[in-house]
Amino acid sequence: MKSRGSVLRGGRIGGAPGAEVDRGGAIEPRRPVPYWCSAGHESRPVFATTAEIPDSWPCDRCGRPAGRSEEAPPPPPPPLGASPKTPWEFLMMRRTIEDGEKLLDEALAKLRASRERR
Ligand SMILES: [Zn+2]
Repeated sequence: MKSRGSVLRGGRIGGAPGAEVDRGGAIEPRRPVPYWCSAGHESRPVFATTAEIPDSWPCDRCGRPAGRSEEAPPPPPPPLGASPKTPWEFLMMRRTIEDGEKLLDEALAKLRASRERR
C-alpha cells in the first residue's frame, strides 16, 4: 500500500480571494446589543451603530421575546391555545346553549303534561 502523504499539499494561503472580507466600501461600525428573555437567556445581536435598536428581540436560544432590561424582561407569550376564545370554548358555549334549550324544552314539556293532566 502506497503512502498518500504526498497527496496532502500545503494550504493555499493567499490563493482564493476572501469571500467574506472586503466586499467593497468601508466596514460599517457595529456593536453587540444585549437582550434578555424571561428565561434569563442573553442574546447579543449585532447592530450597525447607525441602525435603530429595537426594544425587543427574539431570544437566540428559546425564541421568546427578549428586552433590553435584564431585571424586567418582557413576559413570555401565552402558550398556544390560550387565546380568549378557542374553538373548544366556542363548542362548549354552543353545547351550553343547546343544553339550556333542551332543559327548557323539557321544562315546557313537563309544564304542558301537568296542565294536560288537569
Ligand atoms: Zn431565551
